[in-house]
Amino acid sequence: MISDAECRTLNSGRFEAVIGLEVHAQLLTDTKLFCGCSTKFGSGPNTQTCPVCIGMPGVLPVLNRKAVDFAIMTGIAMNCTIAPYSRFARKNYFYPDLPKGYQISQYELPLCTGGFIEIVVDGEVRRIGITRIHMEDDAGKNIHEENGNYSFVDLNRAGVPLMEIVSEPELRSPKEAAEYMKKIRSVLRYLGVCDGNMEEGSLRCDANVSVRPVGQTKFGVKAELKNMNSFRFVERALGYEIRRQIEVLEEGGNVLQETRLWDAAAGITQSMRTKEEAHDYRYFPEPDLVPMAIGREIIDALKADLPELPDRKRERFGVRYGLPKYDADLLTSEKAVAEWYERAVSEGGQPKTVSNWMMGELMRMLNEDGISIEDCPLQPGQLAGMLRLIENGTISGKIAKTVFEDMFRSGKDAETLVREKGLVQINDEDAIEKAVDEVLSKHATDVQRFRSGEVKLLGFFVGQVMKATKGKANPQLLNDLLKKKLD
Ligand SMILES: [Zn+2]
Repeated sequence: MISDAECRTLNSGRFEAVIGLEVHAQLLTDTKLFCGCSTKFGSGPNTQTCPVCIGMPGVLPVLNRKAVDFAIMTGIAMNCTIAPYSRFARKNYFYPDLPKGYQISQYELPLCTGGFIEIVVDGEVRRIGITRIHMEDDAGKNIHEENGNYSFVDLNRAGVPLMEIVSEPELRSPKEAAEYMKKIRSVLRYLGVCDGNMEEGSLRCDANVSVRPVGQTKFGVKAELKNMNSFRFVERALGYEIRRQIEVLEEGGNVLQETRLWDAAAGITQSMRTKEEAHDYRYFPEPDLVPMAIGREIIDALKADLPELPDRKRERFGVRYGLPKYDADLLTSEKAVAEWYERAVSEGGQPKTVSNWMMGELMRMLNEDGISIEDCPLQPGQLAGMLRLIENGTISGKIAKTVFEDMFRSGKDAETLVREKGLVQINDEDAIEKAVDEVLSKHATDVQRFRSGEVKLLGFFVGQVMKATKGKANPQLLNDLLKKKLD
């Protein structure tokens, strides 16, 4: 697999990559886009269907108002212009999971155009253009029996509302593409318009990728990559594809315009169909639906109800809490994480210290247990309580790591745990001095070596005293005493 470093080399070398992403997001409505069927995931095959979504003749679609509101909210959040007049179009193709014989999509008059989002890559803020956001209905799902002779069609997904978010070809590396995708997910989850669940297919992504010699303004021939349903796959598939295209060009060949499928198991992209086999969708305005006219008052009302979004929150975190961009970006990527952080700070935690503990220990433990912050057993106030114990010298920072893990596992407060386990820091100078004396007399030769210039042995002595005091010696006192005795 291509590494980030390699990609940077490619980009700063003879070739650069040009990447645009098309993200499909399922809108979090209870019912489908043009009928009243449920959109609940995981129900029995074909239990959530009706004559409209299975494409019976003579039926008429009725547009889901909430889906339109959600798409408009997304457009506003991504700084788009909301079209005062837009309409649906038929995208015609035949496939067994598409009983209507066409998808209802948008073509020449999409709902939202000309926006942007910001991503943070290596501490730098980059602005990526959004070409358009349009609405469409999803197809069903074909299930092919393994080693069998049968294929099945499940139409529960047919008619589920989707939004397609198309970026400008402004992404330049696989890492940027993955960050862009993460940001899209973050914004959609903040808005509550999509659950962002990539495993269940609520958020999917196709990429257009080409390479060109540095300095050339004309785009190279692009390949379309499909089937990337995780951030890691987006990064890996693009890395592979960029390297493949550069190799083709360096060997004097031509990159073909084609659709390629990412094979996660093999770690490669494979040709699915070439341009000659590409569909001609014969788009035409959907005759069964009236055009949409979105008035200013509708946009203003939705705008007024938008929550604080990640970019604004990131900036506020930087200003209000004095956090570096990296911290602020990470802590605001999920609304629930940001809320947890602000509660811990409001309960008395020092802003940067809380950030360090959250990005370090807390994230590590959540990852280990595979749980999200919403289900975190530890409460923000408990972290603030533990930080107070460090500040007032009751426990050392070293002991705090153990206490933190115990709090996470047991749900008990730091104060209780410290009392129960006798972890209170030793601040008694006499007691520490006694331990220091014992260590120094036990390691007389090392003391000699220290005095003859091997000053790095200081760390060894600190370690020995800490061991003797079970990590409870006040580090500052310990250091002062050791230095005094060794001089
Ligand atoms: Zn239906």
